[in-house]
Amino acid sequence: MNMDFKYVVDQFADIQVLRYQVPGFEELSLRQKQLLYHLSEAALMGRDILYDQNCRYNLRVRRTLEAIYLHYAGDRTTDDFRAFEVYLKRVWFANGIHHHYAEDKFVPGFSEAFFEEAVRALPVGKLPLAEGETVETLLACLKPVMFDPEVLPKRTVQSGDRDWIAASANNYYGEGVTQAEVEAFYNQKKEADKSDTPISYGLNSRLEKTDGRLEEKVWKVGGLYSEAIERIVAELEKAVPFAENEKQAEIICKLIDYYQTGDLRTFDAYSILWVEDTASQVDFVNGFIETYGDALGLKASWESTVNFRNEEATRRTQTISENAQWFEDHSPVDARFKKKEVKGVSAKVITVTMLGGDCYPSTPIGINLPNADWIRRDHGSKSVTIENIMEAYDKAAQGNGFSEEFVWSDAERALIRQYGFITDVLHTDLHECLGHGSGQLLPGTDPDALKAYASTLEEARADLFGLYYLADAKLVELGLVPDAEAYKAEYYKYMMNGLMTQLVRIEPGKEVEEAHMRNRQLIARWILEQGAGQAVELKQRDGKTYVVINDYEQLRALFGKLLAEVQRIKSEGDYAAGRALVEKYGVKIDINLHKEVLERYEKLHLSPYKGFVNPVMHEERDKDGAIRDIQLDYTENYVEQMLRYSRDYSYLK
Ligand code: ZN
Repeated sequence: MNMDFKYVVDQFADIQVLRYQVPGFEELSLRQKQLLYHLSEAALMGRDILYDQNCRYNLRVRRTLEAIYLHYAGDRTTDDFRAFEVYLKRVWFANGIHHHYAEDKFVPGFSEAFFEEAVRALPVGKLPLAEGETVETLLACLKPVMFDPEVLPKRTVQSGDRDWIAASANNYYGEGVTQAEVEAFYNQKKEADKSDTPISYGLNSRLEKTDGRLEEKVWKVGGLYSEAIERIVAELEKAVPFAENEKQAEIICKLIDYYQTGDLRTFDAYSILWVEDTASQVDFVNGFIETYGDALGLKASWESTVNFRNEEATRRTQTISENAQWFEDHSPVDARFKKKEVKGVSAKVITVTMLGGDCYPSTPIGINLPNADWIRRDHGSKSVTIENIMEAYDKAAQGNGFSEEFVWSDAERALIRQYGFITDVLHTDLHECLGHGSGQLLPGTDPDALKAYASTLEEARADLFGLYYLADAKLVELGLVPDAEAYKAEYYKYMMNGLMTQLVRIEPGKEVEEAHMRNRQLIARWILEQGAGQAVELKQRDGKTYVVINDYEQLRALFGKLLAEVQRIKSEGDYAAGRALVEKYGVKIDINLHKEVLERYEKLHLSPYKGFVNPVMHEERDKDGAIRDIQLDYTENYVEQMLRYSRDYSYLK
């Protein structure tokens, strides 16, 4: 790999843009590279769909801003212009005018007067004017959308007594459609469906009201978003001849069929074929998949990821799965709570080559699909870890000052540098492949007995299983860790995060809410108390607090002890004990420590949110035009990439 590779590409507002590498791409066959090429093109072609789904004005805003950015003849060094640039970068990052995570509308740092002047100064031909539209009507439309805080304040609203659909700025429902109407419309369909393999009602359409009647406008060829979907289909057709096997060709053809018909039964058939394909090395997601963006969780945003299996890293998860019974038999939990026969989940590790739609620029590090419950029940699911994205996060964090500020000494920093990444991914593997699947309920225990505390305790159980085994000699024997010291890196990071640094994501005065965060604090605080200053302690130096681990073996024994207790709570359905554990250790925050951590973090000027630019894929042709190779280029910057995508992959009106 290129040692000069720059992971950090851009930084603005609360965002850091990174670049990922695609190790192993060169070793793929030309045929696989061509398959990846066409799937990657298809991954970029739905970009406009997501903008329009997020808010109906997003494309016009983006195009107007880009016209200003490209053709503005005035002074580009003024505060207004600089703030304008930041705003445009944020719109690109969020695929619209609302924050990608917090959901609220961006507040422009430049004046309305500046915007108006900049628009008026442009040649009319450069503006995204619709038929019969003038500069006046464009401004009248966009000014309140961008500047009035009362207009479209939040992308997706999912709380409070108001009408969630009416209050959400997104574009999943037509004007005047109410939440009650949507619920009645889909509940009726769901209740009429007696099968135990129901389609995902509403997944691929906008629900509109015409003359008082509700009607689904389906996203398909010949329907809504047809111009973009036709391009996706054409590119998928080009991918078919390069499929690695017949089954994969069938999968791509089924997806094309679905895009052409919009039939959700066909989508299910496609999803089943897709989840059953474990043979192909190249894989992809392309479609209307996740429903987080819709207040009612019905309508899916468009997304795409293209990837190939990392064979070496996947051997790691296979080794873990193959030894699942050994891990179960040797765990520190009571024999009554162990599974007699345990099956590890086979997860694969992948390398992405392209991110698109709702996976770009902000992207997940793991994917578990398909979403339909009955398909998961009857056909299973694919669980993947995106290692080249995790690696980019890890590399970008090196040298950003974080570990210099929060880690106790050079000894721990050296451990983390040497083993931090491998033990981090290994802990995730153990958590996913074994942790959640281990253990059993006693006969007669209600699986829902732990109620609101269930997910925190479940995450704690899986984390503890992974932590306990990270330090086991078995991992060295299986060749999963380089040596018997490696686990210490993850132990230190885990305790520091759980006791201190994860607090940077919580506002002053608030408590810990999210299940994964509660779980990490629960474990770390319980250990701190049980260790009573021996295994672990918080030490002060120069007025700052640090985590110090005095005895790693004792720490491991405590992880084992807590694992046994959390498993007991789950197996017996001991609600009172589970509740006490979470409430005592997982929820409340030491106010002074929180304040200190926030102040120290603030000084580092780090961005809480990160996303990625994609590599550029080039087809290399020889003299007579035949494709000789596909090459990756890592030199494009964030602004260049966004402008190129808007120029070359924009199909919607
Ligand atoms: Zn989990």
